[in-house]
Amino acid sequence: WAKAEGRGRWAVYDPERSARDIARSALVAGLPSALDRGEFVVHYQPIVALRDSSMVAVEALVRWQHPELGLVGPDRFIGLAEETGLIVRLGEWVLRQACRDAEAWHREFPEANLVVSVNLAARQVNDPGIVDTVASALSRTRLPAGLLQLELTESAVMGTTGEPLRSLRQLADLGVRLAIDDFGTGYSNLAYLRRLPIHCLKLAGPFVEGIRVDDPLDPADHRDERIVDALVRLAHALELWVTAEAVETQEQAERLRALHCDTGQGCWFGGPAPAEVITARLRGDDSPGGLA
Ligand code: C2E
Ligand code: MG
Ligand code: MG
Ligand code: MG
Repeated sequence: WAKAEGRGRWAVYDPERSARDIARSALVAGLPSALDRGEFVVHYQPIVALRDSSMVAVEALVRWQHPELGLVGPDRFIGLAEETGLIVRLGEWVLRQACRDAEAWHREFPEANLVVSVNLAARQVNDPGIVDTVASALSRTRLPAGLLQLELTESAVMGTTGEPLRSLRQLADLGVRLAIDDFGTGYSNLAYLRRLPIHCLKLAGPFVEGIRVDDPLDPADHRDERIVDALVRLAHALELWVTAEAVETQEQAERLRALHCDTGQGCWFGGPAPAEVITARLRGDDSPGGLA
């Protein structure tokens, strides 16, 4: 039955699906050389202190400026880059670019102490050269180590032993901050978490999305809010910072702040944008938060 169904999918002509397949083939074919053609760009999304809405960090999010497909989001090519191994070179390029931009911001606006947060794929964490890659990005760009945060997914670090775990310790020893990305969606081993040299938990979007105080369909449950409450307490008990991801409304921002969550990120505070937008915001000549 399943087989017949699977076959049926191939047989039915679906113009949307074939357009997607063509796009995917274009991505597969173009990816290996896109780095050399300079087609990647890094956008930055503000991470703000919930206490006073000041911008304390930005997350570096890569995009592919594809010649035919336009600006392509990472969900459409990061997996591919991981499969092919290109992620190691691409990740290094993003890291360098992010450190360069962060150093320029630090030079122009030292009082902002703006941290740049860079995503690392599992494959990069497991790469034996990762510590050298990060150390050399810092020394070449002269970015102070304390202004770099590396985001790791739960699956990339939980159960890490031997060399990768040593790498994480060495990265922490460099003075770099380590964060667990999308916390709560993967396989989190709390006993293990306690042994990792991390500084920050980023609470996954779905929990934040569930914070809807006046949702008529979910009047008294507040289940996600209680999960967020518990996770913030857990993080603080471990002396970790907490960033809530995907904050989309003022109400969510206010609830998160009442729950003592430290920082927030999401379209409410501003979506991912080119570096110049962050520069303008640091200068103070931008539009206020909430107008993503
Ligand atoms: P992530 O690290 O969890 O990044 C947060 C994602 O949430 C970003 O998607 C961001 O645009 C999106 N987002 C921002 N505001 C909101 C909001 O208010 N609501 C919701 N629902 N989402 C929001 P983006 O840029 O498409 O990136 C997707 C994923 O791709 C990232 O998830 C990260 O895992 C990966 N990625 C991006 N850049 C890199 C990179 O340079 N290296 C690696 N290894 N992965 C990357
Ligand atoms: Mg996206
Ligand atoms: Mg991230
Ligand atoms: Mg995330």
